[in-house]
Amino acid sequence: MPTNDQSLEQEDEVETSRRSLLKVGAGAVAASLLTSSGEAAAEALVGSGPYPTRAYGADSASSPLKEIQIERRAMGPNDVLLDVLYCGVCHSDIHTVRGEWGPAHYTCVPGHEIIGRVKAVGPAVTKFTVGDIGGVGCMVNSCRTCEHCEEDLEQYCLKGATFTYDTPDPTAKAGFTQGGYSDKIVVTEHFVIRIPPGVNLAATAPLLCAGITTFSPMQYWKLREGQRVGIIGLGGLGHVAVKLAAAHKAQVTVFTTSPGKLADAKRLGASDAVLSTDAEAMKRAADQFDLLISTVPETYDMAPFIELLKMDGTYVNVGAMAPLEGVHGLHLAKSRRALAGSIIGGIAETQEVIDFCTSRNIAADVQMISPAEINSAYERVVNKDVRYRFVIDMGAKA
Ligand code: NAP
Ligand code: ZN
Ligand code: ZN
Repeated sequence: MPTNDQSLEQEDEVETSRRSLLKVGAGAVAASLLTSSGEAAAEALVGSGPYPTRAYGADSASSPLKEIQIERRAMGPNDVLLDVLYCGVCHSDIHTVRGEWGPAHYTCVPGHEIIGRVKAVGPAVTKFTVGDIGGVGCMVNSCRTCEHCEEDLEQYCLKGATFTYDTPDPTAKAGFTQGGYSDKIVVTEHFVIRIPPGVNLAATAPLLCAGITTFSPMQYWKLREGQRVGIIGLGGLGHVAVKLAAAHKAQVTVFTTSPGKLADAKRLGASDAVLSTDAEAMKRAADQFDLLISTVPETYDMAPFIELLKMDGTYVNVGAMAPLEGVHGLHLAKSRRALAGSIIGGIAETQEVIDFCTSRNIAADVQMISPAEINSAYERVVNKDVRYRFVIDMGAKA
C-alpha cells in the first residue's frame, strides 16, 4: 500500500498528465490562446473540469423539481464531456424522485434518456471526437470484469451497475450519480452510445431507455416474423415497443386502459388494440400470444393477461418493479407458460437498438417541454396523459 503522501503525489502526477493530454474543442483552444500565463491557460481548458452545471432536481420525495447547481467531475482519460441537448422523461424518473422505489439520495437529479454534443474527450477516448453526438441511457459504469459485464450484460453487473442517477458513485461530488436533466454530463466512453448523423435527436433520446428496455426482451426471446406479441400499457415504453415489434414483422396487439389510445395503437403499427378493462374482449384474445411485454408502472391484476399466452408463451414484466399480483401457479403450468422480467439492456445492445432504429427510421413520438414544465409533465405521465414521451429541450428557456 502506498503512503498517503505517495498516493497524493501519484494523484498529482496523474492529474497533471491528464490535463496536459486532454484533447479539447476549438473554443477551448481559442480560450487558451487568449490567456497569457501557460498555467492559467491549462486551467481554462474546456477539457479539465470539474464543471459547475445547471440541473433540475428534487430535495425530497414530496418536493417539486427546481433549478439547482451541481458539479460534474473533472475528466479522466477515458471520459467524454457532453453538452446535454435533450433528455426524455421516463416514468422511472418519477418513481425514483418520489421515493416509490425506496428512499432516494437527495438532491435527486433524474434523467436517463440523454442526447448531447461532445464538448471534449479524454486522451484515451477512441469512439468520439469533439462535435459528435453521443447518447447516455440508464447506466454510466459497471465493473467491466465480472462474467455478466464480459458478456455485454453490464446492467446485470455482479458488483452492481452504476445507474445514471441515484446510485453511489465515488467520482461524483455529491457521492451519487445525478442524471440528464442538466446542461453537462461526464461519462466514461464505454457507456456513451454513438448517435448516427441525420437522426431526429429529440425523438431518438427515448430509445436510450424506452427503446432498449423493450427491444432487449424481443431479442432475448427471439421474436420472429408472424409471431403474436401483446404490448400492455401504451405509454413511453409501450409506444416504442409497438414500433419495434412491428419492425420485427410480428403481429402486434396493444392492451390499453385508455379508450382514447385505441386508434393510436394502430397508427403506431399494431394490427389490433384491446381495451383491457373489457373482460369479454380479453377472453376473445385468450391463448394466442407468443410474447407479452408489460409496461404497466405499478402492481395490477395479471390474471386476465396470463390467459392471453398460448402454450410456451412468455410474459415479460418490464414495468412494475413491485409485487406482482394475480399470478396463479396453475395458470402458468397448464400451458407451460413462463413469467419473466428484464431490465434495460447492455451497452452493445443499446447501440444495436439505436442502429436498428436509424436504419428503419424509427423514433419516439415526442412532446417537447422546457425545463420549467418538468413538474406538470410528471403529473401528466402519472395520469396516462402523455403522447407518448415528454422530452426536455435543455436549451429552451427555463
Ligand atoms: P408511462 O409512459 O407512464 O406508460 C405506462 C402506461 O401503462 C400508461 O400510459 C398506461 O397505458 C399504462 N398504465 C398506467 N397505470 C396503469 C395501471 N394502474 N393499470 C394498467 N395500466 C396502467 O411509463 P413508462 O415510462 O413507459 O414506464 C413504464 C414502467 O416501466 C415504469 O414503471 C418504469 O419505471 C418502468 N421501466 C422499467 C425499465 C426496465 O429496465 N425494466 C426501464 C424503463 C422503465 P394505457 O393508457 O395504455 O393503459
Ligand atoms: Zn427509463
Ligand atoms: Zn460487472
